[in-house]
Amino acid sequence: MLYFDHAATTPPYEEVVETVAELMRRHYGNPSSLHKYGEEAGQLLKRAREVCAAALAVKPGEIIFTSGATESNNLAVKGAALQYASRGRHLVTAVTEHPSVFESCRQLEQMGYELTVLPVDEEGHVSAEQVAAAIRKDTVLVSIMHVNNETGRIQPIHEIGARLKAEFPKVLFHVDGVQSFGKLPVKLKDWGIDLFSLSGHKIRGTKGTGLLYVREGVKLSPLLTGGGQEFDLRAGTENVPLIVGLAKAVRMAAEGRERFAAAVSGWRDIIMEAVRQNPALELNSGTEAPHIVNFSHPAMKAEVMLHTLELLGAAVSTKSACSSRLAEPSRVLLAMGRSGNAASGGIRISFGDSHTADEIRQLALAIQEMTTRLKTVERRLFE
Ligand code: PMP
Repeated sequence: MLYFDHAATTPPYEEVVETVAELMRRHYGNPSSLHKYGEEAGQLLKRAREVCAAALAVKPGEIIFTSGATESNNLAVKGAALQYASRGRHLVTAVTEHPSVFESCRQLEQMGYELTVLPVDEEGHVSAEQVAAAIRKDTVLVSIMHVNNETGRIQPIHEIGARLKAEFPKVLFHVDGVQSFGKLPVKLKDWGIDLFSLSGHKIRGTKGTGLLYVREGVKLSPLLTGGGQEFDLRAGTENVPLIVGLAKAVRMAAEGRERFAAAVSGWRDIIMEAVRQNPALELNSGTEAPHIVNFSHPAMKAEVMLHTLELLGAAVSTKSACSSRLAEPSRVLLAMGRSGNAASGGIRISFGDSHTADEIRQLALAIQEMTTRLKTVERRLFE
């Protein structure tokens, strides 16, 4: 079975697995301890922070390690809203955000905050104008993702950040960069980003790891209080082996970004062409992110296509992994104006640098074969 669900999670690099295992065996000290074991663990933690900071071109003191991007997003959104409540209680986000941002905003709404949810156009984009028009005197935070996890659509982060910094410098700008880091250029300082989330397991690191960039000077209210770890922003003994594994993956993703994008976007184009061969299939993705293809069949359930592809040897996703067990249509595809059927029928194929050209050929053939089988089913249904 070939694995084409890299936007859900990726196979960790062998180097990452070996490093984590080795550190778990040998460096189990608590970085807060004062003896040699603690000192060694503390050094590893410090080095990991420096490596991540260098990959993002920021300062080590601006990196907070978390358990993944869900936590990073929760900490960014709720931490900023709670911290700056005296400034205002209005938040701006987009309808296509990941649930970890969207539901954090909704939770704040239930607590009395006001929320503006920006609609997107047919291609899934919001504009800097829309964001600027939504800002009020009491707006504290704008949260817009870089690359959408279902469709690969890219938001104009650079323009939004520039506009906010020029016209509304007090409004904080959070970006969920889970699907963009390691795939596209990311310039936190140049783009006016105050808070940036990424996840270890989407870049061939390990699950349960992530980080939040918090620009120097920005304060957050911690979600976990306790021993004061992570600059008082995230209490709990640091998982040093996993954090070092994360740092390794972050460095490899940053260094390999251009190679990744070149290889993977070529494969994406081959698969988009295979999808276009069947006029009944509607592409929901464009040629924006290098690693995601999304399509629907307006009359065919996504599960039928997914299981047909699985029988043909290819593991893909319906919607995103986080919401694929939910029966409702995709919020993202509905927001792009797709019909209820098409929005329920989205298939996402996502690539990584572990594939070979031969695997991509096999996937293209599987899509062709799926198309033939679906036509037979369609004929049976409609004749
Ligand atoms: N944001 C986006 C865009 C994602 O794709 C994901 C993973 N589905 C997350 C946040 C959550 O990341 P994690 O699995 O590390 O909690």
